[in-house]
Amino acid sequence: MQYHFIANQSQPASGGHTLPVIDPSDGQVYDEIQRGTAEDIDRAVQAARSCFEGPWGKLNAAERGRLMMRLSQKIAEHAEELALIEQRDCGKPTKQARADAAALARYFEFYAGACDKLHGDTIPYLDGYSVLTWREPHGVTGHVVPWNYPMQIFGRCVGGALAAGNVCVVKPSEDACLSLLRVAQLAADCGFPAGAINIVTGYGHEVGDALARHAGIDHISFTGSPRVGTLIEQAAAERHCPVTLELGGKSPQILFEDADLDAALPMVVNAIVQNAGQTCSAGSRLLVQESIYEQVLERLSKAFSLLRVGPATLDLDVGPLIRASQQQRVWDFLADAQVAGIQMVAQGQIVDEAPDTGFYQAPTLLRDVPVDHRLAQEEVFGPVLAAMSFRDEDHAVQLANATPFGLVTGVWTRDGGRQLRMARRVRAGQIFINNYGAGGGVELPFGGYRSSGHGREKGFEALYGFTILKTVAIRHG
Ligand code: NAD
Repeated sequence: MQYHFIANQSQPASGGHTLPVIDPSDGQVYDEIQRGTAEDIDRAVQAARSCFEGPWGKLNAAERGRLMMRLSQKIAEHAEELALIEQRDCGKPTKQARADAAALARYFEFYAGACDKLHGDTIPYLDGYSVLTWREPHGVTGHVVPWNYPMQIFGRCVGGALAAGNVCVVKPSEDACLSLLRVAQLAADCGFPAGAINIVTGYGHEVGDALARHAGIDHISFTGSPRVGTLIEQAAAERHCPVTLELGGKSPQILFEDADLDAALPMVVNAIVQNAGQTCSAGSRLLVQESIYEQVLERLSKAFSLLRVGPATLDLDVGPLIRASQQQRVWDFLADAQVAGIQMVAQGQIVDEAPDTGFYQAPTLLRDVPVDHRLAQEEVFGPVLAAMSFRDEDHAVQLANATPFGLVTGVWTRDGGRQLRMARRVRAGQIFINNYGAGGGVELPFGGYRSSGHGREKGFEALYGFTILKTVAIRHG
């Protein structure tokens, strides 16, 4: 049985209800989490507020950094344990689960080092004045975390928020929260004061909604679906609470005829099958110049048919999807493709060892997907790659920008001028040229244009969003 983690203590839900924890590899229940309530959120916000006004607020930036560095080291010491927790909870192949634990440690390392490097400015003004700016923390920050990368997304939003001097109330996804409960305990073991990191589990429409509406939350960061992002922003708008939204994408990989295909194609495959395609920055659209379209599809067809899907612990190319409804969602997209006459080029193999009760989906390559079809417009969040061809640079830009999203884009060309022209003309928060980073390292600012959200996470840039700027004008003569 798992409990909320509030004020450095394991606590049951006030309503006395629990939710099952399901292993996506076999669909079986193996643990229980608390089904939190608005009252539990209130308790967590109060604990956070006391911490902010008490021990956390009294730490100076260097002390905060030392504490965060200690947590980074602790996470690294417990990396294998955390990876195993995440693997079972999310259905992640071993390599991915280990990479996620390493990324979590790296986030805390990066933000630990940033704590005492965040500062304001002095501004030239009128004679006899001195003007300075201070970067102050918001106070109590709320974090609604999805199920696809719990540890990584916790690292990026909670790491940044703490570094800027905030305290945190975290609402993980009801589908994947075990690793974060363990990390919060590790933080307490490192000496984080009670209330600095609080975790309240439960349903989004119950505890997530209560968090978004709570008057004591001073800033909210959300990663997940556009639908819920809108609800959170509406709730926050009622009290003018600032919000950072990361809402996924329909990110294109653009292959020009002069691309180095030996380098590009393995990354094209990886960008859509990593984490079974359940990645906000998945390269889910493939735009290929006409002259190399057939050649590229032929090579990708071979690569897709070799991909193997199975239980997380077998550490194959692809694990299961998170839950039955996500699997159904992918099936619905593929059924729509069939109705529209969209041709399937190749599929990977689900291995015999995969239990029928697990939530598996073979990676699927589709060709000539019309630009206005929902497979070219909406996030599938499964291992489905939609390919289409383009004539020239203008046409490539037009297709790349033809969705409501704008999160990440990959451009593959040896032409230096074209690299920069494409980077300027495509509307996306990250552009990778001759590589593709699925969000890149922790150092790289990350976030969307338009329906992919607003605000930036990761890197030093994120710290600005987790602070409020105060201007102090002094007339001294
Ligand atoms: P979701 O948006 O419902 O869930 C994300 C988080 O929001 C979870 O913690 C959930 O509990 C919480 N939540 C849900 N309803 C809420 C509410 N009313 N108020 C506050 N919080 C709430 O996502 P989902 O239903 O799990 O997945 C649906 C689709 O969303 C996926 O197929 C995918 O396209 C997209 N998605 C994107 C990302 C991403 O990284 N950008 C992550 C998860 C899901």
